[in-house]
Parts: sequence; C-alpha cells; structure tokens
Amino acid sequence: MATFGTLSDRLTETFRNLRTKGKLTAADIDGTVREIRRALLDADVALPVVKDFTAKVRERALGDEVNKALNPAQQVVQIVNEELVAILGGEQRRLEFAKNPPTVIMLAGLQGSGKTTFAGKLAKQLQSEGHTPLLVAADLQRPNAVTQLTVVAEQAGATIYAPEPGNGVGDPVRVSRDGVEHARRQQHDIVIIDTAGRLGVDAELMKQAADIRAAVDPDEVLFVIDAMIGQDAVNTAKAFQDGVDFTGVVLSKLDGDARGGAALSVASVTGRPIMFASTGEGLDDLEPFHPDRMASRILD
Ligand code: GDP
Repeated sequence: MATFGTLSDRLTETFRNLRTKGKLTAADIDGTVREIRRALLDADVALPVVKDFTAKVRERALGDEVNKALNPAQQVVQIVNEELVAILGGEQRRLEFAKNPPTVIMLAGLQGSGKTTFAGKLAKQLQSEGHTPLLVAADLQRPNAVTQLTVVAEQAGATIYAPEPGNGVGDPVRVSRDGVEHARRQQHDIVIIDTAGRLGVDAELMKQAADIRAAVDPDEVLFVIDAMIGQDAVNTAKAFQDGVDFTGVVLSKLDGDARGGAALSVASVTGRPIMFASTGEGLDDLEPFHPDRMASRILD
C-alpha cells in the first residue's frame, strides 16, 4: 500500500532523531509531538483528529511511563502506535450475520467511490466462505450501473437481482425490498444491495438511501469511501452518517498514492469501524481491515 508512504517516512525520521537521545526532556517531547502533528496534517488527517491525537500522545509521553522507561524513545513510539490503533478503531470488526437469514448488507457512498466493485469483491469473498450472496442492483440513477453490477456479479460467480426493464425501474426502494424477498425465497443467505451515489452529497439521494434503509432494515450498512478524497473525507462521512447511520466503513483505493488522511480521520470522527480495505480493481483485492496492522505499517 503506497497510501501511507510519506507519512510513514516522516514519522520514521522523527523517531530516528528521538532515538539518538537518552532521557527525554519536555522540549524533546514537544518537538516530537510538533513533528507528528505536521506530518499528520500534511497527510490530510482532519484537524480535530490531529489535535486530539497529539494531545493524548503528549500527555502520555510527558508522564511516568516514558520517564521511567529503559528506552524512552521506544516508549514514545509505542504510545504513538497505541494511539494510532485507537483512532483507527481499536479491534478489528467483522461482518455481523443475521440470526435469521438472509443477512442484509446495504452499501452507500459517493459515485465513483468503489461501491459496485466492492459489492463484487464482497460477494466473491463470501462465496468462497460457503455463503450464497445475492447482489441487488438498486442503483437506478446511473444508466450503466445495473449493467456494471451484472458484469461484476458474473465475474464473482454470484447471482444478481435487477429490475426488469419497465417493471419497477426508477424505484430503488421497491427493488431493494423485492430483492430481499427474492433472496428469502431462493434461500440466499446474504443480500448485498448496491445503491446510487452522486458525485457530491445530495439531499434527494441521501433520502433515497435512508428510505432503502428503512424499507429493508439491513444488518449492516457499509459506507464506501475513496481513500484518495483527502480532506473531504470527514464531511462526506458525517453526511452519510447523518443520512444512513452506517455501521461500518470500507476504505477503497488504498492501493493508490493517497496521503492516508481519510483512513486516519473517518473512524475516529464517526465512531464507526473501518471493516474492509479495498486495494485494487480486481475482485480479489479485498482485505479485512486490521487497525493494529495498519498502525504497524505506518510506523514501520
Ligand atoms: P461506484 O460508482 O461507487 O459503484 O464505483 P465503482 O465500483 O464503479 O468504482 C469506480 C472506479 O474505481 C472504477 O474504475 C473501479 O475500477 C475503480 N476502483 C474501485 N475500487 C478500487 C480500488 O480499491 N483500487 C483501485 N485502484 N481502483 C478501484
């Protein structure tokens, strides 16, 4: 993942300097915290997240755990690591399956965020685990969307439920509801609903997504966000949280050379865990998101 390259390099440099010192003075710690702050801001991490993060690191670094440590610099790195894991959501969160199938998973996000691609990736992964997912094409906004999902479903070897031309076209709520009903009848144990997205947050479309959510009562609502969107990540995430109250986040395009700010901001600003990392255009480019591994990668 190229995403954290620069941030990672800068933190490594900061800690290299710190390691040349023995006991750390308050000035050493302040200097280090200032460099961490700059590196995070340059990586597009949202300001409130940076403030909170550096305040916590500073407070702990000035305390006894560093003062009494055999290797104070290493202890500071450890604190940064722990606080990074915390802002990335702490523990890894897996999908929750319904007691009474089908488990309904609804996807939401801006157009181009990688929803449809993720739908295919998730379907493929779930199939390989023995599930029988049904993909539901409820993105009726973009003329091409149903076709695109059909292609993705074929590649994933999954079944798709799409509106017949002229029948229910234009009513994504009805398609979603019918899709879940279809899954129940055909004994698919999971339903993945792909919904429409606009280029920017849009009230009408948010209402549509909220209506779908209310109609199908999903077990999971996954918000797909493009890691490349930088500073816009926070506002977009908040708008979707208000609109559809998502249960988890999918970070897509983590293979790109984004600066990583979205990843480091979204979980902490919304309090919702990042559950998957999408790392390429291929259907196998999907990984569960592990906050601890991600933190280690950043501090590598
Ligand atoms: P949607 O509008 O949200 O359904 O987005 P799409 O799934 O159509 O994805 C938009 C574009 O991003 C397509 O060209 C995808 O191939 C590409 N894409 C999706 N996920 C990833 C990813 O994880 N990495 C990369 N590099 N490209 C991706």
